[in-house]
Amino acid sequence: MTDVVVIGSGPNGLAAAVALAREGATVTVLEAMDEIGGGTRSGELTLPGYLHDLCSAAHPMGVLSPFFRTLPLAEHGLTWLRPKASVAHPLDDGPAVLLRTSLSETLAELGEDGPSYERLVAPFLKNPHGLLYDALAPLGLPRHPFLMLRFGWHAIRSAIGLAKRFSGTRARALFGGCAAHSILPLDQPLTAAIALMFLVTAHVEAWPVAKGGSRAIAGALASLLRAHGGTIETGRFVRSAADLPPARLYLFDTSPAQLEKIAGPMLPERYLRRLRKFRYGPGVFKVDWALDGSIPWRDPRCLEASTVHVGGTIEELAASEAAMYRGDHADKPFVLVVQQSELDPSRAPAGKQTGYAYCHVPAGSTLDLTERIEAQIERFAPGFRDRILARHATTTADLERHNPNLVGGAITGGVADSSQLFTRPIARLNPYTTPNPRVLLCSSSTPPGGGVHGMCGYHAARTALRRLSKFEVGPLA
Ligand SMILES: Cc1cc2nc3c(=O)[nH]c(=O)nc-3n(C[C@H](O)[C@H](O)[C@H](O)COP(=O)(O)OP(=O)(O)OC[C@H]3O[C@@H](n4cnc5c(N)ncnc54)[C@H](O)[C@@H]3O)c2cc1C
Repeated sequence: MTDVVVIGSGPNGLAAAVALAREGATVTVLEAMDEIGGGTRSGELTLPGYLHDLCSAAHPMGVLSPFFRTLPLAEHGLTWLRPKASVAHPLDDGPAVLLRTSLSETLAELGEDGPSYERLVAPFLKNPHGLLYDALAPLGLPRHPFLMLRFGWHAIRSAIGLAKRFSGTRARALFGGCAAHSILPLDQPLTAAIALMFLVTAHVEAWPVAKGGSRAIAGALASLLRAHGGTIETGRFVRSAADLPPARLYLFDTSPAQLEKIAGPMLPERYLRRLRKFRYGPGVFKVDWALDGSIPWRDPRCLEASTVHVGGTIEELAASEAAMYRGDHADKPFVLVVQQSELDPSRAPAGKQTGYAYCHVPAGSTLDLTERIEAQIERFAPGFRDRILARHATTTADLERHNPNLVGGAITGGVADSSQLFTRPIARLNPYTTPNPRVLLCSSSTPPGGGVHGMCGYHAARTALRRLSKFEVGPLA
Protein backbone atom coordinates (compact mmCIF):
# COMPACT_ATOMS: atom_id res chain seq x y z
CA MET A 1 0.00 0.00 0.00
CA THR A 2 1.31 3.45 -0.93
CA ASP A 3 0.33 6.62 0.89
CA VAL A 4 1.98 9.02 -1.54
CA VAL A 5 3.14 8.71 -5.15
CA VAL A 6 5.75 11.26 -6.22
CA ILE A 7 5.99 11.76 -9.98
CA GLY A 8 9.59 12.66 -10.81
CA SER A 9 12.87 12.07 -8.97
CA GLY A 10 14.53 15.47 -9.28
CA PRO A 11 15.94 17.01 -6.11
CA ASN A 12 12.50 18.38 -5.21
CA GLY A 13 10.72 15.07 -5.81
CA LEU A 14 13.29 13.21 -3.75
CA ALA A 15 13.28 15.88 -1.02
CA ALA A 16 9.49 15.62 -0.80
CA ALA A 17 9.68 11.83 -0.69
CA VAL A 18 12.29 11.89 2.10
CA ALA A 19 10.33 14.50 4.10
CA LEU A 20 7.24 12.28 3.89
CA ALA A 21 8.94 8.93 4.46
CA ARG A 22 10.81 10.07 7.54
CA GLU A 23 7.43 10.93 9.08
CA GLY A 24 6.27 7.38 8.49
CA ALA A 25 4.42 7.72 5.16
CA THR A 26 4.90 4.98 2.57
CA VAL A 27 6.20 6.65 -0.57
CA THR A 28 6.76 5.50 -4.14
CA VAL A 29 8.66 7.69 -6.61
CA LEU A 30 8.02 7.16 -10.33
CA GLU A 31 10.75 8.48 -12.64
CA ALA A 32 10.33 8.70 -16.41
CA MET A 33 13.98 8.21 -17.26
CA ASP A 34 16.22 5.20 -16.63
CA GLU A 35 18.26 7.19 -14.16
CA ILE A 36 17.05 9.14 -11.14
CA GLY A 37 17.99 12.70 -10.33
CA GLY A 38 16.43 15.05 -12.92
CA GLY A 39 18.68 18.11 -12.86
CA THR A 40 21.31 16.30 -10.79
CA ARG A 41 22.49 13.65 -13.20
CA SER A 42 26.05 13.03 -14.40
CA GLY A 43 27.54 10.93 -17.17
CA GLU A 44 30.37 10.44 -19.67
CA LEU A 45 29.45 12.89 -22.42
CA THR A 46 32.79 13.31 -24.19
CA LEU A 47 35.42 10.59 -23.78
CA PRO A 48 35.64 7.48 -21.57
CA GLY A 49 36.89 8.42 -18.11
CA TYR A 50 35.56 12.01 -18.21
CA LEU A 51 32.53 12.50 -15.96
CA HIS A 52 30.30 15.49 -16.73
CA ASP A 53 27.33 17.01 -14.94
CA LEU A 54 24.39 16.94 -17.33
CA CYS A 55 22.68 19.86 -15.58
CA SER A 56 23.49 21.30 -12.16
CA ALA A 57 27.16 21.67 -11.29
CA ALA A 58 27.83 24.17 -8.48
CA HIS A 59 25.68 24.02 -5.36
CA PRO A 60 25.53 27.07 -3.11
CA MET A 61 21.87 26.37 -2.39
CA GLY A 62 22.46 22.63 -2.03
CA VAL A 63 25.04 22.92 0.72
CA LEU A 64 23.06 25.63 2.55
CA SER A 65 19.55 24.26 1.96
CA PRO A 66 17.62 24.54 5.23
CA PHE A 67 16.17 21.06 4.54
CA PHE A 68 19.25 19.25 3.22
CA ARG A 69 21.21 20.55 6.23
CA THR A 70 18.93 18.52 8.50
CA LEU A 71 19.54 15.29 6.59
CA PRO A 72 22.43 12.83 7.11
CA LEU A 73 23.38 13.03 3.42
CA ALA A 74 27.09 12.52 4.12
CA GLU A 75 26.28 9.11 5.64
CA HIS A 76 24.53 8.28 2.38
CA GLY A 77 27.46 9.14 0.14
CA LEU A 78 27.36 12.89 -0.46
CA THR A 79 30.63 14.77 -0.06
CA TRP A 80 30.76 18.48 -0.85
CA LEU A 81 34.10 19.62 -2.29
CA ARG A 82 34.67 23.27 -1.48
CA PRO A 83 36.83 25.48 -3.67
CA LYS A 84 39.08 28.29 -2.40
CA ALA A 85 36.76 30.82 -4.06
CA SER A 86 33.11 30.58 -5.12
CA VAL A 87 33.44 32.80 -8.18
CA ALA A 88 36.20 34.19 -10.34
CA HIS A 89 35.23 36.99 -12.69
CA PRO A 90 37.99 37.63 -15.23
CA LEU A 91 38.30 41.07 -16.80
CA ASP A 92 40.13 42.26 -19.92
CA ASP A 93 42.22 44.79 -18.05
CA GLY A 94 43.81 43.63 -14.84
CA PRO A 95 43.36 40.65 -12.60
CA ALA A 96 40.13 38.71 -12.11
CA VAL A 97 37.81 39.49 -9.19
CA LEU A 98 37.61 36.63 -6.72
CA LEU A 99 34.60 36.08 -4.48
CA ARG A 100 36.02 34.33 -1.44
CA THR A 101 34.33 33.06 1.72
CA SER A 102 36.38 35.51 3.76
CA LEU A 103 34.69 38.90 3.59
CA SER A 104 37.94 40.76 4.22
CA GLU A 105 39.73 38.91 1.39
CA THR A 106 36.85 39.75 -0.95
CA LEU A 107 36.90 43.40 0.12
CA ALA A 108 40.58 43.47 -0.80
CA GLU A 109 39.57 42.44 -4.34
CA LEU A 110 37.18 45.36 -4.68
CA GLY A 111 39.43 48.35 -3.94
CA GLU A 112 37.51 51.56 -3.37
CA ASP A 113 34.16 49.72 -3.45
CA GLY A 114 35.13 47.49 -0.50
CA PRO A 115 33.35 49.60 2.18
CA SER A 116 30.15 49.86 0.14
CA TYR A 117 30.19 46.10 -0.51
CA GLU A 118 30.69 45.45 3.18
CA ARG A 119 27.76 47.72 4.13
CA LEU A 120 25.58 45.84 1.65
CA VAL A 121 26.47 42.25 2.56
CA ALA A 122 27.70 42.21 6.18
CA PRO A 123 24.28 42.73 7.90
CA PHE A 124 23.05 39.48 6.37
CA LEU A 125 26.06 37.54 7.55
CA LYS A 126 24.90 37.90 11.15
CA ASN A 127 22.15 35.34 10.45
CA PRO A 128 22.57 33.93 6.95
CA HIS A 129 20.71 30.70 7.73
CA GLY A 130 17.72 32.72 8.96
CA LEU A 131 17.78 34.71 5.76
CA LEU A 132 17.97 31.56 3.65
CA TYR A 133 15.12 29.91 5.53
CA ASP A 134 12.80 32.83 4.87
CA ALA A 135 13.99 33.52 1.32
CA LEU A 136 13.57 29.87 0.33
CA ALA A 137 10.04 29.63 1.70
CA PRO A 138 6.68 30.51 0.11
CA LEU A 139 5.31 34.00 0.79
CA GLY A 140 4.03 34.29 4.34
CA LEU A 141 4.98 35.59 7.73
CA PRO A 142 8.79 35.36 7.81
CA ARG A 143 10.59 34.00 10.87
CA HIS A 144 13.00 36.93 10.73
CA PRO A 145 10.86 39.90 9.64
CA PHE A 146 13.47 42.64 10.21
CA LEU A 147 16.15 40.74 8.33
CA MET A 148 13.73 40.12 5.45
CA LEU A 149 12.66 43.74 5.44
CA ARG A 150 16.27 44.80 5.10
CA PHE A 151 16.85 42.20 2.38
CA GLY A 152 13.68 43.24 0.55
CA TRP A 153 14.73 46.89 0.60
CA HIS A 154 17.70 46.04 -1.62
CA ALA A 155 16.28 42.95 -3.31
CA ILE A 156 13.33 44.63 -4.96
CA ARG A 157 15.66 46.71 -7.13
CA SER A 158 17.26 45.84 -10.43
CA ALA A 159 20.87 44.62 -10.45
CA ILE A 160 21.84 47.59 -12.59
CA GLY A 161 20.18 49.96 -10.12
CA LEU A 162 21.78 48.46 -7.01
CA ALA A 163 25.19 48.16 -8.70
CA LYS A 164 25.19 51.96 -9.01
CA ARG A 165 26.38 52.06 -5.40
CA PHE A 166 29.73 50.80 -6.76
CA SER A 167 31.97 53.11 -8.73
CA GLY A 168 34.56 50.60 -9.94
CA THR A 169 34.38 48.04 -12.75
CA ARG A 170 35.36 45.16 -10.47
CA ALA A 171 32.55 45.27 -7.89
CA ARG A 172 30.03 46.09 -10.59
CA ALA A 173 31.13 43.09 -12.69
CA LEU A 174 31.04 40.73 -9.72
CA PHE A 175 27.54 41.92 -8.81
CA GLY A 176 26.35 41.65 -12.42
CA GLY A 177 27.70 38.11 -12.83
CA CYS A 178 25.82 36.91 -9.75
CA ALA A 179 22.66 38.71 -10.90
CA ALA A 180 22.83 37.06 -14.31
CA HIS A 181 21.92 33.72 -12.68
CA SER A 182 18.38 35.16 -12.67
CA ILE A 183 18.17 34.62 -16.46
CA LEU A 184 16.47 38.03 -16.67
CA PRO A 185 17.51 41.38 -18.12
CA LEU A 186 19.63 42.99 -15.41
CA ASP A 187 17.49 46.14 -15.38
CA GLN A 188 14.42 44.18 -14.19
CA PRO A 189 13.21 44.53 -10.59
CA LEU A 190 14.29 41.72 -8.25
CA THR A 191 17.45 40.85 -10.18
CA ALA A 192 19.33 42.48 -7.29
CA ALA A 193 17.79 39.84 -5.01
CA ILE A 194 19.47 37.01 -6.90
CA ALA A 195 22.85 38.77 -6.83
CA LEU A 196 22.61 39.57 -3.15
CA MET A 197 21.51 36.08 -2.22
CA PHE A 198 24.35 34.45 -4.16
CA LEU A 199 26.88 36.86 -2.65
CA VAL A 200 25.66 36.09 0.87
CA THR A 201 25.85 32.33 0.30
CA ALA A 202 29.44 32.66 -0.90
CA HIS A 203 30.47 34.23 2.41
CA VAL A 204 28.96 31.33 4.33
CA GLU A 205 30.23 28.38 2.26
CA ALA A 206 32.30 28.37 -0.92
CA TRP A 207 30.06 27.13 -3.73
CA PRO A 208 30.84 23.41 -3.77
CA VAL A 209 30.64 20.62 -6.32
CA ALA A 210 29.58 17.10 -5.38
CA LYS A 211 32.31 14.46 -5.24
CA GLY A 212 31.67 11.92 -7.97
CA GLY A 213 29.31 14.21 -9.88
CA SER A 214 26.05 15.96 -9.05
CA ARG A 215 24.41 12.55 -9.35
CA ALA A 216 25.80 11.93 -5.84
CA ILE A 217 23.17 14.38 -4.52
CA ALA A 218 20.33 12.35 -6.00
CA GLY A 219 22.10 9.14 -4.94
CA ALA A 220 22.30 10.28 -1.31
CA LEU A 221 18.65 11.41 -1.23
CA ALA A 222 17.56 8.13 -2.82
CA SER A 223 19.59 6.07 -0.37
CA LEU A 224 18.09 7.99 2.55
CA LEU A 225 14.61 7.51 1.11
CA ARG A 226 15.14 3.75 0.83
CA ALA A 227 16.46 3.68 4.42
CA HIS A 228 13.07 5.13 5.44
CA GLY A 229 11.27 2.42 3.45
CA GLY A 230 10.54 4.43 0.29
CA THR A 231 10.78 2.94 -3.19
CA ILE A 232 11.81 4.38 -6.56
CA GLU A 233 10.80 2.99 -9.94
CA THR A 234 12.72 4.25 -12.98
CA GLY A 235 11.62 4.01 -16.61
CA ARG A 236 8.07 4.91 -15.48
CA PHE A 237 7.01 7.81 -17.72
CA VAL A 238 3.63 8.84 -16.34
CA ARG A 239 1.52 9.99 -19.29
CA SER A 240 -1.95 9.89 -17.77
CA ALA A 241 -3.65 9.25 -14.45
CA ALA A 242 -4.17 5.65 -15.57
CA ASP A 243 -0.39 5.13 -15.19
CA LEU A 244 -0.58 5.98 -11.48
CA PRO A 245 -0.95 3.34 -8.77
CA PRO A 246 -3.55 3.92 -6.03
CA ALA A 247 -2.47 6.28 -3.25
CA ARG A 248 -3.84 8.85 -0.86
CA LEU A 249 -1.96 11.79 -2.41
CA TYR A 250 0.04 12.55 -5.56
CA LEU A 251 2.97 14.96 -5.61
CA PHE A 252 4.09 16.19 -9.03
CA ASP A 253 7.78 17.03 -9.41
CA THR A 254 6.86 18.11 -12.93
CA SER A 255 6.26 21.17 -15.03
CA PRO A 256 2.73 22.63 -14.95
CA ALA A 257 2.39 21.33 -18.53
CA GLN A 258 3.07 17.73 -17.40
CA LEU A 259 0.68 18.23 -14.48
CA GLU A 260 -2.05 19.16 -16.93
CA LYS A 261 -1.30 16.22 -19.24
CA ILE A 262 -1.51 13.74 -16.39
CA ALA A 263 -4.05 15.17 -13.96
CA GLY A 264 -5.87 17.61 -16.27
CA PRO A 265 -9.15 15.63 -16.28
CA MET A 266 -9.18 15.83 -12.47
CA LEU A 267 -8.63 19.61 -12.39
CA PRO A 268 -11.13 22.38 -13.20
CA GLU A 269 -10.80 24.15 -16.55
CA ARG A 270 -10.59 27.52 -14.75
CA TYR A 271 -7.39 26.41 -13.01
CA LEU A 272 -5.93 24.84 -16.16
CA ARG A 273 -6.50 28.06 -18.10
CA ARG A 274 -4.40 29.96 -15.55
CA LEU A 275 -1.77 27.20 -15.54
CA ARG A 276 -1.40 27.54 -19.32
CA LYS A 277 -0.35 31.16 -18.86
CA PHE A 278 2.74 30.08 -16.89
CA ARG A 279 5.89 31.38 -18.59
CA TYR A 280 8.84 28.96 -18.74
CA GLY A 281 11.27 31.56 -20.04
CA PRO A 282 14.58 31.36 -21.90
CA GLY A 283 16.67 28.23 -22.28
CA VAL A 284 20.36 27.42 -22.19
CA PHE A 285 22.93 26.14 -24.66
CA LYS A 286 25.57 24.02 -22.92
CA VAL A 287 28.99 22.69 -23.87
CA ASP A 288 31.10 20.13 -22.01
CA TRP A 289 34.74 19.48 -22.79
CA ALA A 290 37.38 16.85 -22.16
CA LEU A 291 40.50 18.96 -21.68
CA ASP A 292 44.19 18.19 -21.93
CA GLY A 293 44.83 20.15 -18.72
CA SER A 294 43.46 23.12 -16.77
CA ILE A 295 41.88 26.10 -18.52
CA PRO A 296 44.82 28.50 -19.12
CA TRP A 297 43.20 31.59 -17.57
CA ARG A 298 45.26 34.75 -18.05
CA ASP A 299 44.79 35.21 -14.31
CA PRO A 300 45.60 31.71 -13.00
CA ARG A 301 43.78 32.48 -9.75
CA CYS A 302 40.58 31.73 -11.70
CA LEU A 303 41.42 28.06 -11.15
CA GLU A 304 40.75 28.55 -7.44
CA ALA A 305 37.04 29.08 -8.10
CA SER A 306 34.40 26.44 -8.78
CA THR A 307 32.48 28.92 -10.95
CA VAL A 308 33.83 31.45 -13.43
CA HIS A 309 31.58 34.23 -14.75
CA VAL A 310 32.81 34.96 -18.26
CA GLY A 311 31.62 38.04 -20.11
CA GLY A 312 33.50 41.10 -18.87
CA THR A 313 31.88 44.24 -17.49
CA ILE A 314 28.37 44.55 -16.09
CA GLU A 315 27.44 46.58 -19.18
CA GLU A 316 28.48 43.66 -21.42
CA LEU A 317 26.59 41.16 -19.27
CA ALA A 318 23.50 43.37 -19.29
CA ALA A 319 23.66 43.67 -23.09
CA SER A 320 24.00 39.89 -23.48
CA GLU A 321 21.09 39.10 -21.15
CA ALA A 322 18.86 41.79 -22.67
CA ALA A 323 19.50 40.39 -26.17
CA MET A 324 18.70 36.85 -25.05
CA TYR A 325 15.48 37.99 -23.35
CA ARG A 326 14.17 39.75 -26.44
CA GLY A 327 14.82 36.63 -28.52
CA ASP A 328 18.28 37.31 -29.96
CA HIS A 329 21.61 35.55 -29.51
CA ALA A 330 24.37 37.79 -28.17
CA ASP A 331 27.61 37.77 -30.17
CA LYS A 332 29.44 37.84 -26.85
CA PRO A 333 27.22 35.86 -24.48
CA PHE A 334 27.52 35.76 -20.70
CA VAL A 335 29.06 32.31 -20.12
CA LEU A 336 28.86 30.41 -16.86
CA VAL A 337 31.86 28.07 -16.50
CA VAL A 338 32.25 25.39 -13.82
CA GLN A 339 35.56 23.59 -13.22
CA GLN A 340 34.50 20.46 -11.32
CA SER A 341 37.55 18.29 -11.96
CA GLU A 342 39.88 20.92 -10.47
CA LEU A 343 38.25 19.99 -7.15
CA ASP A 344 37.36 16.39 -7.91
CA PRO A 345 40.14 14.44 -9.63
CA SER A 346 37.82 11.41 -9.94
CA ARG A 347 36.09 13.18 -12.84
CA ALA A 348 38.94 12.98 -15.36
CA PRO A 349 42.04 10.83 -16.04
CA ALA A 350 45.27 11.92 -14.33
CA GLY A 351 46.57 15.24 -15.71
CA LYS A 352 43.35 15.90 -17.65
CA GLN A 353 40.32 18.05 -16.79
CA THR A 354 36.66 18.43 -17.62
CA GLY A 355 35.09 21.75 -18.60
CA TYR A 356 31.44 22.82 -18.30
CA ALA A 357 29.82 25.97 -19.64
CA TYR A 358 26.48 27.32 -20.72
CA CYS A 359 24.93 30.54 -21.87
CA HIS A 360 21.33 31.71 -21.84
CA VAL A 361 19.44 31.57 -25.14
CA PRO A 362 15.85 32.24 -26.26
CA ALA A 363 13.39 29.43 -25.50
CA GLY A 364 13.64 26.61 -28.02
CA SER A 365 16.75 28.11 -29.67
CA THR A 366 18.29 25.83 -32.29
CA LEU A 367 21.48 27.83 -32.85
CA ASP A 368 24.83 26.14 -32.10
CA LEU A 369 26.68 28.59 -29.84
CA THR A 370 29.78 26.45 -29.27
CA GLU A 371 31.97 28.85 -31.25
CA ARG A 372 30.75 31.95 -29.35
CA ILE A 373 31.15 30.25 -25.97
CA GLU A 374 34.67 29.09 -26.79
CA ALA A 375 35.60 32.55 -28.11
CA GLN A 376 34.48 34.14 -24.84
CA ILE A 377 36.60 31.71 -22.79
CA GLU A 378 39.55 32.12 -25.16
CA ARG A 379 39.28 35.90 -24.61
CA PHE A 380 40.20 35.44 -20.94
CA ALA A 381 42.15 32.17 -21.33
CA PRO A 382 44.31 32.35 -24.46
CA GLY A 383 45.19 28.83 -25.63
CA PHE A 384 41.95 27.32 -24.26
CA ARG A 385 40.99 25.84 -27.62
CA ASP A 386 44.33 24.02 -27.88
CA ARG A 387 43.46 22.08 -24.72
CA ILE A 388 40.19 20.69 -26.09
CA LEU A 389 40.33 16.92 -26.67
CA ALA A 390 36.61 16.48 -27.25
CA ARG A 391 33.43 18.47 -26.83
CA HIS A 392 29.73 17.75 -26.41
CA ALA A 393 27.05 20.33 -27.11
CA THR A 394 23.57 20.29 -25.58
CA THR A 395 20.77 22.26 -27.24
CA THR A 396 17.47 23.35 -25.74
CA ALA A 397 15.79 20.43 -27.53
CA ASP A 398 18.33 17.96 -26.07
CA LEU A 399 17.60 19.29 -22.59
CA GLU A 400 13.85 18.85 -22.99
CA ARG A 401 14.32 15.35 -24.42
CA HIS A 402 16.39 14.41 -21.40
CA ASN A 403 13.87 15.91 -18.96
CA PRO A 404 10.33 16.98 -19.93
CA ASN A 405 10.43 19.62 -17.16
CA LEU A 406 12.96 21.67 -19.15
CA VAL A 407 10.35 23.22 -21.43
CA GLY A 408 12.10 24.98 -24.35
CA GLY A 409 15.42 24.40 -22.54
CA ALA A 410 14.36 26.50 -19.50
CA ILE A 411 16.38 25.38 -16.51
CA THR A 412 14.71 26.94 -13.46
CA GLY A 413 11.14 25.70 -13.73
CA GLY A 414 9.85 29.00 -15.12
CA VAL A 415 10.63 32.70 -15.27
CA ALA A 416 11.45 34.06 -11.81
CA ASP A 417 10.41 37.68 -12.37
CA SER A 418 8.27 39.79 -10.08
CA SER A 419 5.03 38.26 -11.34
CA GLN A 420 6.12 34.62 -11.04
CA LEU A 421 8.76 34.40 -8.30
CA PHE A 422 6.33 34.02 -5.39
CA THR A 423 3.15 33.13 -7.25
CA ARG A 424 4.33 30.10 -9.16
CA PRO A 425 2.73 28.35 -10.94
CA ILE A 426 -0.27 30.62 -10.23
CA ALA A 427 -1.34 32.87 -7.36
CA ARG A 428 -2.77 30.65 -4.58
CA LEU A 429 -2.67 30.94 -0.81
CA ASN A 430 -0.73 27.67 -0.72
CA PRO A 431 1.19 27.44 -4.02
CA TYR A 432 1.80 23.69 -3.67
CA THR A 433 -1.91 22.90 -3.75
CA THR A 434 -4.27 22.55 -6.69
CA PRO A 435 -8.08 22.61 -6.69
CA ASN A 436 -7.91 18.80 -6.37
CA PRO A 437 -6.95 18.18 -2.73
CA ARG A 438 -5.16 14.92 -3.59
CA VAL A 439 -2.93 16.55 -6.22
CA LEU A 440 0.05 18.70 -5.21
CA LEU A 441 2.89 20.26 -7.17
CA CYS A 442 6.41 20.11 -5.68
CA SER A 443 8.77 21.02 -8.55
CA SER A 444 10.81 24.17 -9.12
CA SER A 445 7.70 25.62 -10.77
CA THR A 446 6.61 26.32 -7.17
CA PRO A 447 8.35 28.66 -4.66
CA PRO A 448 11.20 29.21 -4.11
CA GLY A 449 11.91 28.18 -7.72
CA GLY A 450 15.01 26.89 -9.50
CA GLY A 451 18.17 25.46 -7.99
CA VAL A 452 19.15 22.28 -6.20
CA HIS A 453 17.87 22.95 -2.67
CA GLY A 454 14.87 20.64 -2.35
CA MET A 455 12.86 23.40 -0.64
CA CYS A 456 9.92 23.20 -3.09
CA GLY A 457 9.68 19.50 -2.27
CA TYR A 458 10.07 20.08 1.45
CA HIS A 459 7.31 22.69 1.66
CA ALA A 460 4.96 20.65 -0.56
CA ALA A 461 5.58 17.62 1.67
CA ARG A 462 4.62 19.63 4.76
CA THR A 463 1.28 20.40 3.14
CA ALA A 464 0.90 16.75 2.14
CA LEU A 465 1.60 15.57 5.69
CA ARG A 466 -1.23 17.74 7.00
CA ARG A 467 -3.62 16.15 4.48
CA LEU A 468 -2.51 12.53 4.54
CA SER A 469 -5.01 11.18 7.07
CA LYS A 470 -7.95 12.87 5.32
CA PHE A 471 -7.89 10.59 2.27
CA GLU A 472 -8.23 6.88 1.64
CA VAL A 473 -5.89 5.00 -0.69
CA GLY A 474 -7.47 4.86 -4.13
CA PRO A 475 -6.94 5.57 -7.82
CA LEU A 476 -6.60 9.20 -8.92
CA ALA A 477 -8.57 8.84 -12.11
C1 LIG B 1 21.88 22.87 -17.71
C2 LIG B 1 21.43 23.14 -16.30
C3 LIG B 1 22.34 23.66 -15.38
C4 LIG B 1 21.95 23.91 -14.07
N1 LIG B 1 22.89 24.33 -13.16
C5 LIG B 1 22.57 24.41 -11.84
C6 LIG B 1 23.57 24.62 -10.87
O1 LIG B 1 24.76 24.68 -11.17
N2 LIG B 1 23.17 24.70 -9.55
C7 LIG B 1 21.86 24.58 -9.17
O2 LIG B 1 21.56 24.65 -7.96
N3 LIG B 1 20.89 24.35 -10.09
C8 LIG B 1 21.21 24.25 -11.40
N4 LIG B 1 20.25 23.95 -12.34
C9 LIG B 1 18.83 23.95 -11.92
C10 LIG B 1 18.43 22.66 -11.19
O3 LIG B 1 18.95 21.54 -11.85
C11 LIG B 1 16.91 22.58 -11.14
O4 LIG B 1 16.39 23.79 -10.63
C12 LIG B 1 16.46 21.43 -10.24
O5 LIG B 1 16.98 20.20 -10.72
C13 LIG B 1 14.95 21.36 -10.18
O6 LIG B 1 14.59 20.24 -9.46
P1 LIG B 1 13.15 19.57 -9.60
O7 LIG B 1 13.14 18.41 -8.69
O8 LIG B 1 12.12 20.61 -9.44
O9 LIG B 1 13.03 19.09 -11.12
P2 LIG B 1 13.99 18.27 -12.06
O10 LIG B 1 15.37 18.25 -11.52
O11 LIG B 1 13.79 18.81 -13.42
O12 LIG B 1 13.44 16.79 -11.96
C14 LIG B 1 12.19 16.43 -12.45
C15 LIG B 1 12.16 14.95 -12.68
O13 LIG B 1 10.84 14.56 -13.00
C16 LIG B 1 10.87 13.64 -14.07
N5 LIG B 1 9.57 13.72 -14.76
C17 LIG B 1 9.04 14.79 -15.41
N6 LIG B 1 7.86 14.46 -15.95
C18 LIG B 1 7.64 13.16 -15.63
C19 LIG B 1 6.58 12.25 -15.91
N7 LIG B 1 5.51 12.61 -16.63
N8 LIG B 1 6.67 10.97 -15.41
C20 LIG B 1 7.72 10.61 -14.65
N9 LIG B 1 8.75 11.42 -14.38
C21 LIG B 1 8.72 12.70 -14.85
C22 LIG B 1 12.03 14.11 -14.91
O14 LIG B 1 12.53 13.09 -15.76
C23 LIG B 1 13.04 14.51 -13.84
O15 LIG B 1 13.85 13.43 -13.45
C24 LIG B 1 20.62 23.66 -13.66
C25 LIG B 1 19.71 23.12 -14.56
C26 LIG B 1 20.11 22.83 -15.86
C27 LIG B 1 19.14 22.19 -16.80
